[in-house]
Amino acid sequence: MSRVYNFSAGPAALPEEVLKQAREELLDWHDTGMSVMEMSHRGNSFMQIAQEAEADLRELMAIPDDYKVLFLQGGASTQFAMVPLNLMGRTGKADYLNTGSWSKKAIAEGRRYGEVRVVADTAADYTVPAADSLAFSEDAAYVHYTPNETIQGVEFPYVPETGGVPLVADMSSTILSRPIDVSKFGVIYAGAQKNVGPAGLTLVIVREELIGQAGERCPAMLDYKIHADAGSMYNTPPTYAWYLAGLVFKWLKAQGGLEVMAVINERKAETLYAAIDQSDFYHNPVDPECRSWMNVPFTLADSDFDTLFLEEARHAGLVTLKGHRSVGGMRASIYNAMPEEGVQALVEFMKEFERKHG
Ligand SMILES: *Cc1c(COP(=O)(O)O)cnc(C)c1O
Repeated sequence: MSRVYNFSAGPAALPEEVLKQAREELLDWHDTGMSVMEMSHRGNSFMQIAQEAEADLRELMAIPDDYKVLFLQGGASTQFAMVPLNLMGRTGKADYLNTGSWSKKAIAEGRRYGEVRVVADTAADYTVPAADSLAFSEDAAYVHYTPNETIQGVEFPYVPETGGVPLVADMSSTILSRPIDVSKFGVIYAGAQKNVGPAGLTLVIVREELIGQAGERCPAMLDYKIHADAGSMYNTPPTYAWYLAGLVFKWLKAQGGLEVMAVINERKAETLYAAIDQSDFYHNPVDPECRSWMNVPFTLADSDFDTLFLEEARHAGLVTLKGHRSVGGMRASIYNAMPEEGVQALVEFMKEFERKHG
């Protein structure tokens, strides 16, 4: 099998070193004679795996002590409901920014639980609202936004200033791509399958003072307090995904941490955007100020070539480049696990394809 670069938006590529280590440990983790998949989540071995993963994530992201880190199930989509169920109670109202497909889903879900005000809507425009145009409701229990819209390839170049209202961020496709100041956020959540680990695990980083406000009718499984008090082991957590995420955290630390990843990620994105911008054959629709480092959608000048592009790319070992069905064209997702050589290979392939067919 020759080298394959997987540009999937999620579940996405994992670092090869991590997969090799998982293979190495698959049947026998640290001389226990057991696979991590077979271990009790309450046994000493898994407790060690779980605690190390949390400690490594805290170190990587410099998560302050007054934040809980939860390792949950249900994906980011479950957080669309858990956030209002846990946070909206205070006023019954929340502000949302609508910048694309995932914002829209969060808004629709939020509306089941209370009054949602959409304070800015740039969902159709491949951009984000200007920072100084934002005005939030005084009685909003929280402000929700999507720092990186995975489908549109739109990323906020700033963190909204909410004047004390807790800020909630769906970071599914941008978490760990660079350092962030966690203290600016009330809640950060992310489905793991993009930039953290395998599907089945959801990370929630929540400021302690926001925990414990869910109503009486809130299902136990959707209550941050229940999970926080139980160390994310109220019920059986997704143990193997948690373990693999832990291996990814160690891999990130070995790369030099998030400062180093940011430099690499920015360089990868710039390389790809430059190739698109320098040609008349490829086009990216996103406002250059808010182009995502992680998800790069692009179209061909003549969409009749889409199928051929995907087919020839696949033969060149460049796979899962088909754009989201709602946007069309192509999308290259270039998360942490995509090596720079993968982006180079894609850029060279694109130049060659344009030379032949452009
Ligand atoms: C993928 C994605 C989701 C949905 O995640 P699930 O884990 O499948 O529920 C939500 N928000 C963003 C920004 C995403 O990229």
